[in-house]
Amino acid sequence: MQTQLADFIRDTPEGREADEILRKCVHCGFCTATCPTYQLLGDELDGPRGRIYLIKAMLEGAEVTARTRQHLDRCLTCRSCESTCPSGVHYSRLLDIGRRIVEERVPRQGADAAVRWALREFVPRAGLFGVAMGAGRRVRGVLPKALRDKVPLARPAGTWPMPRHARRMIALAGCAQPAMAPSINAAAARVLDAVGISLVEMAGAGCCGAVRHHLNDHEGGRIDARRNIDAWWLAIERGEIEAIVMTASGCGTQVKDYAHLLAQDFAYAQKARRVSDLTRDVSEIVAAEVEPLAAALGVFKGEPEAVAFQSPCTLQHGLRIRGVVEKLLRAAGYAPTAVRDGHLCCGSAGTYSILQPELSQRLRANKLEALAEGGARLIASANIGCITHLEAGTETPVRHWIELIDARLQQVAR
Ligand code: SF4
Ligand code: SF4
Repeated sequence: MQTQLADFIRDTPEGREADEILRKCVHCGFCTATCPTYQLLGDELDGPRGRIYLIKAMLEGAEVTARTRQHLDRCLTCRSCESTCPSGVHYSRLLDIGRRIVEERVPRQGADAAVRWALREFVPRAGLFGVAMGAGRRVRGVLPKALRDKVPLARPAGTWPMPRHARRMIALAGCAQPAMAPSINAAAARVLDAVGISLVEMAGAGCCGAVRHHLNDHEGGRIDARRNIDAWWLAIERGEIEAIVMTASGCGTQVKDYAHLLAQDFAYAQKARRVSDLTRDVSEIVAAEVEPLAAALGVFKGEPEAVAFQSPCTLQHGLRIRGVVEKLLRAAGYAPTAVRDGHLCCGSAGTYSILQPELSQRLRANKLEALAEGGARLIASANIGCITHLEAGTETPVRHWIELIDARLQQVAR
């Protein structure tokens, strides 16, 4: 694609990056067919190619309107288009640049601005979020459905094993997950303990920065990234840990991107590269330990339990990890069912379910229908946002897949 970027952006790092991305796009439109919002709305401007045209026009100096912002707002940042694109167009980076500019040119007003401000200020603060979640659970029965959907019932976390192994890894606690499902990191700690790895959470680390970054507060996202790097750095520098483990694929995608996000930050660029290199999704860690895992699980004698695995966009399109969780589930005596349109988003997408409820709920209904087709009475996922979002639309239990592996280990231990 030929470009003629306007003076305001041409010679900036953002302008150079946008130009490089735009030039790779050959207008083929393959991406449009796999875009969830295009499938729902049928408008070229609600698909990746149309959004790319809108951003290109904006960067070349065209007028920006509230309609432009609406088409960009409706994007889930699911990155399905990136998986489909044969030219390697890094759409999500271009979208970040486009959204930042559109936000400046067409500032938000009223309730839209207020809700986004509240989400940016509230969700990333784990302490505050935990207090609100506790209060919400106490009055859950009388909450309106929209709010009740965001307050999942508590599952006991169980015991976190004492660090006893020479091999150690850091787990990111994150912001929403400790309050919404503390059982996930505890289950990961037990599974890794069983394969000879001690998992520890470091004081001072918190939100990965994705919440603020995707709400266009890029500097807020970088502040979160620097705080996490500071919390982890001593252990990294001393060589005490092998990896930084992510149990939420959304956080994993963000932390993997720290090297890019802090590339212009003289004090943090090198540390950020190191942190990105050390970051692994928990599925990658467990998959590298299949033999000790098989030994810990023993021979599974029962009938494999059917489970429908919803692969989060951040896992399959962001981290590009595909088929790994299904193999691990099989190894633990589950039978993952075939899921139609597995590449499509469930509609959770960070704060999208709050900001675009109608589209989000339609996507969830489609996803739950596809997950139910194989007859499984259990759904697994790999990201807290997807788990909570799906749970709110079904009576079928939804768990993180690591909790299912942990459950098998608990059965063996009994
Ligand atoms: S990120 Fe997802 S919703 Fe956005 S344009 Fe790409 S495929 Fe469509
Ligand atoms: S598939 Fe890639 S090259 Fe083709 S229109 Fe989409 S972004 Fe451009």
